[in-house]
Amino acid sequence: MCEEMIKNPYRRVWVCVNLDALHDNLRQIAACRKNDAGIIAVIKADGYGHGAVMLAREMDEIPEVIGYAVATEEEAVLLADAGIKKPAMVLGYTFPEAYEEMALRGVHATVFTDQMLEDMNRAAQKAGKKMHVHIAVDTGMSRIGIRPDDEGLSFVARAMQCPNLSIDGIFTHFATADEADKSKTNVQYEKFSSFTDRVEKELSLKIPLRHCSNSASILELPDMHMDAVRAGIILYGMWPSDEVKRDGIVLEPLLSLKSRIAYIKELDAGQEISYGGTFCTANPMRVATIPVGYADGYPRGLSNKGDVLIAGKRARILGRVCMDQFMVDVTKIPEAKVGDIATLIGTDGIETITMEEIGDRSGRFNYETACCLGKRIPRVYEKGGKIVCTRDYFHEEKLFF
Ligand SMILES: *Cc1c(COP(=O)(O)O)cnc(C)c1O
Repeated sequence: MCEEMIKNPYRRVWVCVNLDALHDNLRQIAACRKNDAGIIAVIKADGYGHGAVMLAREMDEIPEVIGYAVATEEEAVLLADAGIKKPAMVLGYTFPEAYEEMALRGVHATVFTDQMLEDMNRAAQKAGKKMHVHIAVDTGMSRIGIRPDDEGLSFVARAMQCPNLSIDGIFTHFATADEADKSKTNVQYEKFSSFTDRVEKELSLKIPLRHCSNSASILELPDMHMDAVRAGIILYGMWPSDEVKRDGIVLEPLLSLKSRIAYIKELDAGQEISYGGTFCTANPMRVATIPVGYADGYPRGLSNKGDVLIAGKRARILGRVCMDQFMVDVTKIPEAKVGDIATLIGTDGIETITMEEIGDRSGRFNYETACCLGKRIPRVYEKGGKIVCTRDYFHEEKLFF
């Protein structure tokens, strides 16, 4: 447990990331692939809040992982700067000012308009390097991408005419793969696969990486794995939704969030707690202050709803979560004292608070909760029960290899 490690220099709050769990989850993902589809590890939003660079360092050595997907050019360049060898693709739109650097750094771009083709082709020529592109196809999200019709086909033909572009991939994204009813996903897949068939037959173009599967379809729709799958939330040991079937796969969450009790007091009956006085004691209570708040990304929506774990027991949040502090009920945890660990996410004894629980109770969801954990929280990386790295966003990272 990382709080017992002498190398953990953090006191107020820290995220603990278990890298062994990353490897376990990856093994499970690799085992459920059809036709050995390559794994594109989705580490956008700083690896869903876990720290993209550290995770990519681990995955750079795993043969099944063929590359990374991020949301922005800055995220991709950060990986390249950190010495990550496998390529990163940017899943969304990138503004033209960045194309030359992307070509130079070998960052793969998503393309879906003629203007983008033209600008990327020119930037790649200027850089003296081919630009790697993936064509986005809109089969139902109405977010980005060409339509899978005749017009879309002629777009692909025009992309083939750009001498400085290398068409490495073509992809689409599912809107409802995490729902029990897969009918809309089947329609999206049908549109996408018949379009890539047309590209192959009518344009004689075999695009090396056809990819459409996100976490939910990786788990439940193996026939849609194609050449590569884009694994996001399941890498981190979380579930795309509670409608996704959980049999046959055991995911282990990577992340836990810990803090320590800052202060304990006894309150008489009839005393209000926190802003707005939304909680009032009915009886005398013992109350602990936790020095974490919504400025750390801990959801204010947990006011009067969430729990933390202290000494292996649940302690309810009392009143509103403030910017930097909140209060919990330790009346039934008499052993609790200042300095003790409070587990905000993770396991203590037989109790566990999952990211899903935090998401549900706060009216956010697990993806959002994870990537909103703030940069004021340092990250501590563990492997084989040892801390191997810490990352504190106000200072340099420290490696302990
Ligand atoms: C975020 C994202 C993913 C990963 O989704 P998960 O549900 O986390 O697996 C895959 N593809 C695209 C285009 C995305 O934006």
